[in-house]
Amino acid sequence: CGIVGYIGKQEAVPVLLDGLKRLEYRGYDSAGVSVLNDGKLTTKKSVGRLSKIEEILTAQPLSGSVGIGHTRWATHGRPSDRNAHPHYDCQQKIAVVHNGIIENYIQLREELQEKGHIFNSETDTEVLPHLIEEYYQAQQGRGDLEAAVREALRHVEGAYAMVVISEYAPDRLIVARKSSPLIIGLGRGENFVASDIPAVLPYTREIYILEDGEMAVVRAGEVRVTDFAGEPVTKRPFHVEWDL
Ligand code: GLU
Repeated sequence: CGIVGYIGKQEAVPVLLDGLKRLEYRGYDSAGVSVLNDGKLTTKKSVGRLSKIEEILTAQPLSGSVGIGHTRWATHGRPSDRNAHPHYDCQQKIAVVHNGIIENYIQLREELQEKGHIFNSETDTEVLPHLIEEYYQAQQGRGDLEAAVREALRHVEGAYAMVVISEYAPDRLIVARKSSPLIIGLGRGENFVASDIPAVLPYTREIYILEDGEMAVVRAGEVRVTDFAGEPVTKRPFHVEWDL
């Protein structure tokens, strides 16, 4: 239900937790974060309040300056640790947070299972990292994660705001939006993504509001917005005047 992403020089976890707290008003049943540290992906997630995930992260701190966080409002699969986001592929190299509903997930999951993918959760969301993995592997070493995400989206029906991070391309967040809100907060040498503006307001007032059918590659020093076919889209930053 709430999405936050960070890439820059700060430690990601405090920014992610702070952002998720600012989205708590949307309601949720579980929470989680994934962080890339030295190119290695680690995920912590749990059913319950954000204070629970904070406890876990205090006991086992996660360092790294690229990360994604999520608060879940379960639609497919009961609230549980396993069903909490982020979700990942078989090799745990691609992590995805998602708001919305993947309508054709049953069919996609069956096709992926036939190809050998093992699923970890009961969610609609989990088809996303597995699909991306499938198309990434099919490139046979070309190493184009963005193209794999685009290909995956061609097969997905439903509503989504999603953010992908991966060991395959540790210098970026890949985001996409269709029928669920997603914004990008523009910083200096750092950038933010979120499902709503309050999550990023302590850090920046310059915002790109993604429209349906837009995706973006967000790096620390650059944001590149395209349509789902990969054609560049020119965005104008929206300046937020109001305060929290
Ligand atoms: N449909 C997804 C799930 O149940 C995402 C729910 C959400 O938007 O939080 O896991």
